[in-house]
Amino acid sequence: MSLSLLQIAYSSLLPHIKRTPMRKNEATRILLSDETLDHEYLPITGLASFTSAAAKLILGPTSPAVQEQRTVSVQTISGTGANHLGALFLSRFYKWDGAPKIWLSNPTWANHHAIFKNVGIQPVDYPYYDPKTIGLDYDGFISALQTAPERSVFLLHACAHNPTGVDPTQEQWKSVAEVMAVKKHYAFFDSAYQGFASGGLDKDAWAVRYFVERGVALLICQSFAKNAGLYGERVGALHIVSPTREAADRVKSQLSVLQRSEISNPPTYGARLVSLILNDDVLFDEWKKDIQTMSGRIIDMRKELFRILTEELKTPGNWDHIMNQIGMFSFTGINPEQSKALVEKGHIYLTANGRISMAGLNTHNIRYFAENLDKVVR
Ligand code: PLP
Repeated sequence: MSLSLLQIAYSSLLPHIKRTPMRKNEATRILLSDETLDHEYLPITGLASFTSAAAKLILGPTSPAVQEQRTVSVQTISGTGANHLGALFLSRFYKWDGAPKIWLSNPTWANHHAIFKNVGIQPVDYPYYDPKTIGLDYDGFISALQTAPERSVFLLHACAHNPTGVDPTQEQWKSVAEVMAVKKHYAFFDSAYQGFASGGLDKDAWAVRYFVERGVALLICQSFAKNAGLYGERVGALHIVSPTREAADRVKSQLSVLQRSEISNPPTYGARLVSLILNDDVLFDEWKKDIQTMSGRIIDMRKELFRILTEELKTPGNWDHIMNQIGMFSFTGINPEQSKALVEKGHIYLTANGRISMAGLNTHNIRYFAENLDKVVR
């Protein structure tokens, strides 16, 4: 059996691929040994076996929005592309009362501002993070939802809020959904970390599924960059849930027109890989284990950092937020001067607002980090 040119080209990538997690290796191996694959274009809306499995992953396999075929799913250039396409779609087709506006949590992933401005939607902040408690400003958040004009569009981080690591509890989410339903607001969900917060794919999709059940109008931007470790392959999807199948058909047609003028056809490789994982029971189970390993390691680092600071170093201040926050990021609560001191004196790199990547901590560097943090807050 002779190797195709494609296999020869890909085989030069194998030393790199070997360093990636086991399950992805298995999916990669299956994909690279498939001699029937070609370099043809995908359909404009992407690989159907990927988009339909991706919709079930976020909405749940028994979601009425999936079963009643009210969900339109389009493959995008990872989560950023999904945000862009969702924003572009709303800029054209949402029935705006006045100038288009999107309500963004303060703070949010910095790129949100640029993405919405690019399509003529003005970002407005809603209160989210409370520096006093280093937690959620729940009252401020609810009051912004209540006072915003009816049918406002709110961007919500589905889980593992970036940059704060602060998520609403399920009870708080329920109240948010209640106000949004009453005020007929639109939820623009950004889901970039499903599985990375709690370790459970279903648990991390809880808010999205609850909002669908509650009948809040919404769309979801989904990224596989982090949870599948496919950053550079740019695998993502935009899912728009409509009230009826007929409305969904119209949404699909308009999304196809937009996608055609932007990227024509999405890329094949990463979507094929994720499709293999999501549609194969064995690979899917193995992937879930990998996600638990990754998120479990981050949770262990939170526990260890909290223990060193509170028990060993007796660092001044309250560090409960280290345990209460979730996902890859943590707002430490330190000020810009203290952050600068960590960078300059300890060569510990973090953003000026005190955000660290919990994923960057490991058993070798955690004590060094804790000791330096202790020094700068004393
Ligand atoms: N949304 C949020 C909240 C993010 O934090 C990120 C990445 O950091 C993204 C979207 C987009 O990521 P990507 O385009 O790599 O999928």
